[in-house]
Amino acid sequence: MTGPLRTRPAYGDVGRYLVDQSPVAVDLRDNTNLWGVPPAAARAIASAATAVSRYPRIYAAELKNALAEYVGVSAEMIVTGCGSDDVLDAALRAIADPGERMAHLDPTFPTAITFARMNGLVPIGVPFTADWDADVDALLATGARVIYLCSPNNPTGTIIARASLARIVEHAAGVVVVDEAYAEYAPSSAIDLARSSNRLLVLRTMSKAFGLAGLRVGYAIGAPDLVAEVEKSRGPYKVSVVAERAAVAALSTDIDWVQSRVAETIVNRRQFAALLGTLGLSPLPSAANFLFVPTPNAVALERALWKRGVGVRLYRGLTGIGDAIRMTVGPWNLMVALIRGLEQAIEHAEHTEATVVGAP
Ligand code: PMP
Repeated sequence: MTGPLRTRPAYGDVGRYLVDQSPVAVDLRDNTNLWGVPPAAARAIASAATAVSRYPRIYAAELKNALAEYVGVSAEMIVTGCGSDDVLDAALRAIADPGERMAHLDPTFPTAITFARMNGLVPIGVPFTADWDADVDALLATGARVIYLCSPNNPTGTIIARASLARIVEHAAGVVVVDEAYAEYAPSSAIDLARSSNRLLVLRTMSKAFGLAGLRVGYAIGAPDLVAEVEKSRGPYKVSVVAERAAVAALSTDIDWVQSRVAETIVNRRQFAALLGTLGLSPLPSAANFLFVPTPNAVALERALWKRGVGVRLYRGLTGIGDAIRMTVGPWNLMVALIRGLEQAIEHAEHTEATVVGAP
């Protein structure tokens, strides 16, 4: 440190990608619920205006109760925050001291790595196994104070096998954080392991299946002692009055709406994956609301889709993968727009290639 400031990494600054939020007609970049806001939550937002002259509850007690009921644990096993990003940030401060290590699978959600660095931790990437499971021995061998796992994993969409997860939790030197931002789309969850272990914290969000990304509501589930420490590391009033009211309304009244959108997403995911196959693209098996396609043509495809008004997320030089694109799965009309864009992009690329090859 030379001056009064310490230089911290910026959000998204993990050297591989920056978050681009420029508007685009069909935006499939951020894995949110593309059917929109659930109806009871929308009503709660509209009627919350008169309540915002006062502070919210310090630690969102009402929301904790609603979340506890939703996931089937006691309220003392829940901590909330301003998005699950905020809960992860607080958890890293609670669990580890600057200079300690955070092991993670590579590639994974880059924000987790940024938060590790922001909190002075040293991130250590461990490659996936050939079948997209966690390399348990390699993760444990790091002896890291925190093991961050994302399942379903962003960006690959793949899940960590139950037996691998259980073994990591059993033998970890410190605390295991399992990020389940996409849990509603997945066949299983680690929450039951959190009931019996005090070194597992499961992160969840209302930004994806619940359609509330803009309100910023995240939470974590863990043993009461662990959760209490995370809460102490988190600032007060992190969930606004409007966010708490909307989230509680969604949890008490919109569950059917959420579940039927999730069911539709899973059907569309399967159909969309099959269509990608007909275009010669091979998505990884996904347990989330997005598909991830490794392809050497990722840059050209992303640019060509962008010109046709379709935004997808581009990845370059990922460990063991190379270049890839990631696409949110949503209502079928959006998938049709994407497939049309891909067909045109591929046709155009073939035409260009033929011209180039045929040129003197
Ligand atoms: N974890 C993962 C794996 C994610 O993909 C995202 C969103 N992209 C988040 C956490 C962040 O969620 P939130 O909006 O709750 O901060």
